[in-house]
This record gives sequence, structure tokens and C-alpha cells, in this order.
Amino acid sequence: MTISIQGVSVSRGIAIGKVHIVQHDQLEVPEYTILNSQINDELSRFNNAIADARQQLRAIRDHIPNSTRVDVSAFIDTHLLMLEDITLTEEPKRVIKERSCNAEWALKLQRDALVNVFNEMADTYLSTRRDDVDHVVNRILRVLLKQKPLLHEVPDDHLKNRIIVADDLTPADTVLMQHYGITAFATEFGGPTSHTAILARSLGIPAVVGLHSARRFFKNEDLVIMDGSTGMLLIEPNRLIKSYYEKRQREVKRYYSSLRKLKSAPTESADGIPITLTANIELPKDFETVRDVGAKGVGLYRTEFLYMNRETPPNEDEHFETYLNVLKALRGLPLTIRTLDLGADKQVDGAGSQAGKLRSNPALGLRAIRLCLKEPGLFRPQLRAILRASAHGLVKIMIPMLTNIQEMQQVLKMVEDIKIDLDNCSIAYDSDIEIGGMIEVPAAAICADIFAKKLDFISIGTNDLIQYTMAIDRVNDEVNYLYDPLHPAVLRLINTIIKAGKKANIPVSMCGEMAGEKIYTKLLLGLGLRELSVHTASLLEIKKIINNTNIDELSSIIKKVLNTSSGAEVNLLLQHLNTKQSS
Ligand code: PEP
Ligand code: MG
Repeated sequence: MTISIQGVSVSRGIAIGKVHIVQHDQLEVPEYTILNSQINDELSRFNNAIADARQQLRAIRDHIPNSTRVDVSAFIDTHLLMLEDITLTEEPKRVIKERSCNAEWALKLQRDALVNVFNEMADTYLSTRRDDVDHVVNRILRVLLKQKPLLHEVPDDHLKNRIIVADDLTPADTVLMQHYGITAFATEFGGPTSHTAILARSLGIPAVVGLHSARRFFKNEDLVIMDGSTGMLLIEPNRLIKSYYEKRQREVKRYYSSLRKLKSAPTESADGIPITLTANIELPKDFETVRDVGAKGVGLYRTEFLYMNRETPPNEDEHFETYLNVLKALRGLPLTIRTLDLGADKQVDGAGSQAGKLRSNPALGLRAIRLCLKEPGLFRPQLRAILRASAHGLVKIMIPMLTNIQEMQQVLKMVEDIKIDLDNCSIAYDSDIEIGGMIEVPAAAICADIFAKKLDFISIGTNDLIQYTMAIDRVNDEVNYLYDPLHPAVLRLINTIIKAGKKANIPVSMCGEMAGEKIYTKLLLGLGLRELSVHTASLLEIKKIINNTNIDELSSIIKKVLNTSSGAEVNLLLQHLNTKQSS
């Protein structure tokens, strides 16, 4: 019997494949006593689990992706060493014998005792080793409980062509998907503008979120069809359904290859207004596709992905080398480097003491430029590397999440100091490098005119602007229904920003997900935007709409849009707008 499950669509495309379940939930440790006659069996169950855990770690060490330029193997070696330590390998056996308890319980008791010792240590470095104890113990527990290893921990080839079904996935998990050849993923939690969803679109992987408890219907090895456009998942489809979706898959492929003929056509509205279409990029493979789709450069390079799946942040030279490689791939096209935007749903281990700290409201906390200004040791090497790279191509600096003008002034001062330092060291850089800012906090949007006077360009980050305007966490699927780009408040803010940019005579672009959604293209052009930065996967589709739009004809409907009282009303007007000038 085919089971159909509806989730929230976050990345288009049809995938057909077998399921691999990923479970990050806390492990439930069973606690029970055993008979004396069962003790020997329990001891060998424990010994076998230790041996399996060792085996898993060795397999992971052999399968570290080449693209992960970190010493992950040292980290794994530490865990292997811990598996040799008698506190973990022998002590639990003593507990099993003395208390006649099951192996999981004995291991948990030993873990608790060790964690207490670590908690009492004043030395912060040593106390963080507690996490290693947890990781190693959880690995042994997973083996004892016969739970599948996590995504990073299975041999590469096992995941090829699989559809991942998970409670949740971090952006760091998602970065690795292409390496593993994963075709699609579905999660219980998450929202369409979470960074995990953005990455899925960027990788061209179909994805669905918000499965909630429906996740329990999936089993490892089930055959599943995912329709990323509708958010529908079909478990164990019959032959007829499968062949229908195989046909759809071929049609989608044909549609996208038909768009390729637009690659070298100019991006210009039907009434002759030139529009700049640039690309949003995150991962090294994205750079190759920028020219492939005829983008006019990179409007948003999310550099925080350089910090993921590693233990220490990249140093200045590593930043520099990476930017040089990107510039090489762009062959003369402009590159807008967004400085580090860690925090909120992008937590990493390796970015200094503050970044990894989880607070109750991380999206409202130490994130993006706030974190960078608090930790100049993290920020300065990146700024210095960007400046050095600016001698080798057209580079712009873009600051995320500006809230007040003092932040802007602090950044400008840092850049000036670094320039002096580079001069003293006779290192070349572009002395006229443009510095722009992302307007994504309502306070900055309302005061966009103040920022526009100090900046060389502005980019509207709608993902955060909507999150903060509507007071909803963009990764929380329970309040996702409030995520409305058409809410009058959002449209008024966008309008204010565009006007401020015009008045200050500086370019205004939009790089949030709204820019890459074809239903909003005419609206954004009508509001006056002339630059959009979108994923390479949607760029040609957006170009097609731009080329078929007569911007001059949009003005009367845009006036109405700006005077409506609800997103639903705007939606109706938008439907009219989109059908009136069909694309
Ligand atoms: C945005 O907020 O719209 C944006 C482009 O930045 P990010 O999605 O990386 O927060
Ligand atoms: Mg943002």
C-alpha cells in the first residue's frame, strides 16, 4: 500500500530513491537488572559494542571527504584512544557484574561519573573534553541499541542515491550531501528559509520539511518518491505511480534544459530596462555554475560555510586562497563577499568561544556583524584576506545584519586600519573597494536613509527582514504560516529601502530568497528593484520573467499593492499582475 505524506516544500524537483533515516534525538537509555546467569552474555555484548564502535570510527577516518580541509582525523583518533581507556572499556563491566545491570545502564552510570569530574574542573579546555566523552559514549550506546549511525558516520557509498529522512539537519550536515550523492531530504522540523533549506536549493536537491510525527511512517530501505514542488512524499509507491513520477522527472529536466537558451541573452525588461541578475553562492561547487547560467557576478557569497565541518576557523591565508579561487572561476565578474554571518541556525564548533554558545533566542543574539565586532580575532583575518583578494579581481565587502550606524562605523574603521597595515607591509589591495550592507533588521530598514549615506550599496536580506518583522523564528515550522513576504509591513519596508537607495544614489539589490521566487519578480521590478541576486538554479527562470515584463505598465497595480491591508489581498493583486503579463 502506498502511503502519502504532506510536508512543506522547500526545494523543487522530483526524487525517487530508498530511505536512510537519520536520528539526532537524545538516546533513551533502558535501565533493567539481569540474572546472574546472563552476566557473561551482557559482558560480551558490551565488548562487541566497543569493537563495533572502534570499527565505525576507523571507517569514518577512511572516508573523510577530500573537501573537508580540517584535521578531522586527529579528532577521530582522540575518540579511538578513548575507546582504549579502561575508564570506558573496563569500568562499565565492573558495574555490570556488581549491580547485575544491563550494559547500557552501566555505561550511562560511568558516563555520569566522568561528566561530574569534568564539570568540576576549572580549566575550560579540559571541561570541554566532556563533549568527547559524550560523543564516544553515545556511539557505543547507539551500537548497543542497534541504532543507525548519523549522516557523517556511514560509509560514503551507502548514501548514494538515498533520500534522507531526519528529525532535523544542520546546514553543516547539508553541506556534505553532495559529496555523499544524496538525492533528496525530508525533515521533521525546519522552514523554507532555514539555511538548511537554502542549501538544498543551492545544491539542487529536492527537499521537504515539516513532516512532524509523520516521520515515524518511514523505515530504512523504503522506496520513496519526493515531489519537492508540492511537498508530497509517497512511501512504497505502486508501479503506476512510480512510472508517472519518472515521466514527470524527465519533463522537469527538459524544462530546465529549455531555459538554457536564455543563458547569453541580455537581462532586460520587455520595455528595455536593463536588470542585473547575480548569483547567491555558498559552496565551492557553486562558483562553477555562476558563469554557466550567465549570471553577472556574485551578489551574495555566504562565507560562513567555510567554517563548517571543521574544528578551527580558517586563517587569513586560507580565506585569501579561497577568494582567489573564486575570482579565478568568475573570470572578471564581480564578487560580493558577505562577511561571516554565524549564529542563529548556523552554529559551528570552530569559530571561537562566543559563536557556538547556544542561548535561548539565538536569532536575536550574538550573530553576524555582532559576533564579528565582539570577536575581532575572528573578523580581522577575514577582512584582511578580502582586502588582499581585492587586488586580484572586482571584490566588494558586504556586512550582514546591520542594526545601528555605530556598527557600520566600527567596520569602516577596521577596514581603514587594515589598509594602513597593508600599506606598511607593501601588500596590494583595491583602495576604492566598495563596502555595502545588508538591510535585514527592521530598525535598519526604517532608517535605511541613514545607512545609505554611509554605504556604497545596499542589499535587502528578506529572509531575516521577514523573520524579524513578523517576530517569527525562520527555522520554526510551527510559526511558519506567518512567514509572509507579502505582508504590508514587509512590502512597506522593502519600498522604504529601495527609495532610500535611490535618494542616496546607490545601488539596491535583493539577495533574500524572495528575489529567487518567480511569483514575486514582477512585484519587485514594479517596486523599483533593478538588481536581484538569486540561486543559480532559479536564475534563468527569473530571467525569462524579467524579459517578458513591461515594467512601465506595472505602476498602477503597484500603487494598489502598497495600499492594501493584508497579505491575502496583495496575493490576489499579484495573481492578477502575474497573469496580466503572462510569462
Ligand atoms: C537574508 O537574510 O535574506 C539573507 C540573504 O541572508 P541569510 O539567509 O544568509 O541570513
Ligand atoms: Mg540574513
